[in-house]
Amino acid sequence: MNHPKKERTLLLIKPDGVRRGLTGEVLRRLEQRGLKIIALQMVKPSAEQMDNHYPKDEEWLKRIGEKTTATFEKYGRDVTETMGTSDLLKIGQEVRKWLVVYMASAPIVKVIVEGIHAVDMVRKLVGNTFPYQAEVGTIRGDFSIDSPIAANLDKRSIFNIAHASENPQEATHEIAHWFTPAELHEYDRSVE
Ligand code: ADP
Ligand code: MG
Repeated sequence: MNHPKKERTLLLIKPDGVRRGLTGEVLRRLEQRGLKIIALQMVKPSAEQMDNHYPKDEEWLKRIGEKTTATFEKYGRDVTETMGTSDLLKIGQEVRKWLVVYMASAPIVKVIVEGIHAVDMVRKLVGNTFPYQAEVGTIRGDFSIDSPIAANLDKRSIFNIAHASENPQEATHEIAHWFTPAELHEYDRSVE
């Protein structure tokens, strides 16, 4: 078994994060926590690359539908009025389309991060998917305020600055999707 400090995850600084000049701030927070950046590059992804980055399974799509519907219910809004359907899968599919278009619309920064419980640690630093719910002190909670209600009225993806792999399987897929093995670097941080 690999040493826990060797766990790896993928973070993307999304177009809104890059455009707002938050690249340095995001990287700083990773490094400050003691995580190690082992690969880093700015790219303008194709729609196909973004399509293959995000999961396609029904479970993932339905979960997007569920999380979205929960916010509409919380604020007494009719999801069908905005999304044209209350079907969780269809909502997920629609959101996924907006997401792919958005992520391929401008440069992003792709980063592989290594460190103890890197997957969970980076998720914690990034914060809740919906910025209005993200805790203060997280990247999304400190720099964004978006909500699915606002985003979906405008038929667009939520702007939440960064993407981070949710679990080790997602991380493995995403790392292989965005980088070749030769692009990963091994070095010791001075504390090591
Ligand atoms: P996370 O990025 O926190 O892992 P998900 O995997 O559930 O969240 O969703 C992927 C991305 O899809 C989110 O980061 C967000 O940008 C976008 N998204 C999710 N739900 C909606 C929605 N209802 N409307 C617009 N965009 C959404
Ligand atoms: Mg996700």
